[in-house]
Formats: sequence, C-alpha cells, structure tokens
Amino acid sequence: MTRKIAIFDTTLRDGEQSPGAGMTTDDKLVIARQLLRMNVDVIEAGFPVSSPGDFRSVAEIGRMAGDSCVVCGLTRAVDHDIDVAAEALATAKRPRIHTGLGVSPEHLHEKLGITEDECVERVIRCVRYARNLVDDVEFYAEDAGRSDQDFLVRVIQAAVDAGATVVNIPDTTGYSLPEDFAARIRDLRERVEGIEDVTISVHTHNDLGMATALALAAVKAGAEQVECTINGLGERAGNTSLEEVVMAMRMHGDELDAHTDVVTRELTRASRLVSSITGISVQPNKAIVGANAFAHSSGIHQDGVLKARDTYEIIDPDDVGAAGSEIILSARSGHAALRHRLVELGYTFEDEEFEEVYQRFLEIADQKSEVYDQDLESIVQERAREVSAVYTLDALQIQCGDPLVPTAVATITDEDGDTQVVSMIGTGPVDAAYKAIDKVVSVHGDLQEFAIKAVTRGIDAIGEVTVRIVDDDGKVFTGRGADTDIIVSSAKAYLNAVNRMITTKRSREGE
Ligand SMILES: [Zn+2]
Repeated sequence: MTRKIAIFDTTLRDGEQSPGAGMTTDDKLVIARQLLRMNVDVIEAGFPVSSPGDFRSVAEIGRMAGDSCVVCGLTRAVDHDIDVAAEALATAKRPRIHTGLGVSPEHLHEKLGITEDECVERVIRCVRYARNLVDDVEFYAEDAGRSDQDFLVRVIQAAVDAGATVVNIPDTTGYSLPEDFAARIRDLRERVEGIEDVTISVHTHNDLGMATALALAAVKAGAEQVECTINGLGERAGNTSLEEVVMAMRMHGDELDAHTDVVTRELTRASRLVSSITGISVQPNKAIVGANAFAHSSGIHQDGVLKARDTYEIIDPDDVGAAGSEIILSARSGHAALRHRLVELGYTFEDEEFEEVYQRFLEIADQKSEVYDQDLESIVQERAREVSAVYTLDALQIQCGDPLVPTAVATITDEDGDTQVVSMIGTGPVDAAYKAIDKVVSVHGDLQEFAIKAVTRGIDAIGEVTVRIVDDDGKVFTGRGADTDIIVSSAKAYLNAVNRMITTKRSREGE
C-alpha cells in the first residue's frame, strides 16, 4: 500500500483571497458540503480573527463537519488570533489551529522587523500557546521557499519541539524550482529531530505555473500533506490545484508512493460549484476540469480516441465526473424525478424549498425542452443567490429596438419587503436595466467586466452572466445571474454583485 497523502483544502481561506472571490458564510457552507462529499482530509475554513464573517464560517463548518474531517482556522503568531481561532473552532470535533510567521530574509527584515532569534522565540511561543488550546497544531513557516535552509531547519526544529503536529513548508511566492523545493524537504527530514512523528505539509503557489510540480516533487521527497484549492483559486496566480495533484497521484501513485482518499468523480462538480459561486471562470484549457480538457478537435486525434481512448487521453472523463451532459428531465418529469436527480447532484431541500425549486424548474422546462444537470445546478444556485439577497428583482420589462429608446422598468423588493417600481432609459437594454437598479439600491459599483455564456448547448440554453464591479475603495465584487432571457440574467448578475457588496461590508463591520 502506498502512503496516504492528506488533502488540505484551502479554497475557503487562501482561495477566497483571490480578488473578487469574496464569499458569504452561506456560500462557504455550500462549498464545504461539497468538500465533505469529496472526502478531503482537512478544510481550512477561514481566518477567524479577520472578520466576524470568517469567524462564523469556521464555527459553522466545524459544526457541520463532525467526525468526517479536520477543520482548520488560520492565525498569525499572535496570542489574540490564536484565542479567537480556538473559540471559533469550539464547535469542531477535530479542530486544528494553523499558526506561524514569515521566515525568509524578506519577511524577517522587511515585513516583521525582527531578528532570527526573535523569530524562533515567536515560533515556540505561538505553537505552545495554540497547543494549550487544541491538540492539533499546524505550524507554517511563511515564505519558506525563499528562506535560508539552515535557518529553516532551526525554525522547524523549534516548532516540532514546541509540540506542532504538522509543519507546513510553504512556497508562498511561487518562487522555487521543483528539484530545489524537494531538496529542502529531504534536508528537513534528515536534520530535524523528531520530524518522523509529525506530518510535513506543503503549500505552493502558481506564480511560475509550477504549483502542482512543486507539490508533487515535495510528496516524492516525503511530504504527506498537500494544501490546495479547487480550480487553483488563490492570491495572484493562485494556489496548487486540488484536482491536478489528486489526479497526478492517482496516475503516478506507485512512483510517488502516494495515494489520496478523494472521490475523484466529484471533481468536476466541485469545480463548477466554486466557479459559479465565486464568479471566477475556469480557463477552457485548464487541466482536469477545463471545458476542453477532454475535447479532441484534430481529425487524427479524434480518430485515435474513437479506436482506443488511451491513444490520446490518459484520464477517463468518467473518473472525474466530466462525462457529457445527459438529458435528464423535461416538463413532464414529476416531483419525484426532480427530487431524485437533485439528491444525486448533492442538493437536498425541505418540502417548501423544494416546491420553489420545482416551480422554477417547470418554468425553465417550459422554455427549453431538455433540462440538463448544469441547468439544475444553475436553478439551485440562482435560488440560493435570491434567498440571501438584500434586494431581489421581482420583474423586469425591457423595450428596445431600432428606432426605440431602450427603456427598462424594474420591480425590486428590499429585505424589509418594500417594493419599488422604477423606469430608466439607457444606451442599450442592459444599460437601462442597470440604471434602474442603481436608482433603487443604496450603493454604487463601477462595472469593470461583463461576460455572458450559455450554460448548456442550444439556442434555448440558460444564459449565465458574470459581472465584476468595483466599490469606492477599489474592492472587487463578482455577481452572477442565470435565466433563459439574457437581459434578465444581466440584471440579476448586477443585483447579485451589489448584494455581495452590501453583505460583505456588513460582515466586515460585524453586523
Ligand atoms: Zn498561500
């Protein structure tokens, strides 16, 4: 049997740090549920001291996870951070505190302004302090990828001696080459006393497009935990992509002496879910989960794949849940059929909620004869967006054409149940609709990006619109909307972005 490599998912913490990927607590719970279904080993649920929203997410995910996985909260090497993390993790059956500080010359001298000796003192203090509160403490040596190796050995020795159960060696800036990074791991295993009793974790970033290569080189050199995110979401160029490391270990388990317990058939759904919730699309040529990952366009390749799949495909699309979209339901499908399919897709609803989903399904099924899984996911997520909304779009009427003046009449209800009907003209139908929304909502965001795509094939497909808006402080918010009418999707997407802007501000302010 090969070594079990723990998959530490940080989509909800590091992933959320991607510009525009802000998530509400409800969003995070939906993703966490999918992570549990995928059977990841650790969920890093947030940075509790950073905001009341993060605190609540960690607490609620801790409660939801039960015995099935470790739930982790991030802290700086600061007593107060650690106290708050322990408090948030009180609901978790298997809590872990992830604490640490920078160890590279850049971090020591420029960011922290401390000497090496002071750094080691802080390492010992934060690990001991956390160990008094929970049994499972992961220490991170931030920017280890650019640290002096002798000093790194000293730091990790101090963390191990102080009681860390996991030591995380991050290449925070995505700077390293795989062979050099692996050499660091081998060196730590040789020189740190007692390291065989703790888990070595790696956390790599994709600034040079090598995050996955770095993680795998480290696994080969002895690391037994990989920190990663769905779709490689994360700061700058992103984190290690979960789907890539999991499939690479599946493909090369013997050479790496490694396997994971991740349910790979859930990978594609997880990717779609995270992309839909964050509004950050996956590039079509992305490994494993991109739309083209299993598409063959050259005639020679198509011919080869038809004769024998493995001529040009190393992964069976079924293994990652990427098999082609199946027609599953139509307007004639009853309650039972819809409920059954939703359960298979991972969604369960109370009766009243289910009835709302069913009504929406019927509307869609009336408009388009074939309803695919992606349509259902889009319906469910659209509903989730409406449920948590501050403002909801009740109706939208558009008049446009040549030579008409584009005019929008929007009916919008706020969370107190007050409804307003406003009418505006614009340069086009979308512009008119956005102006009507601006007239009602209390905040304003500058539109930076507007993208539209069909959820499934066909002229009657649901159109999904993604928008990005920027507030006065330069913060980016993403919104999505889905409908068979693209002007309605556009209006919903804008309103969704505005709603996120408002809820994020409230969560920061601690409401
Ligand atoms: Zn990171």
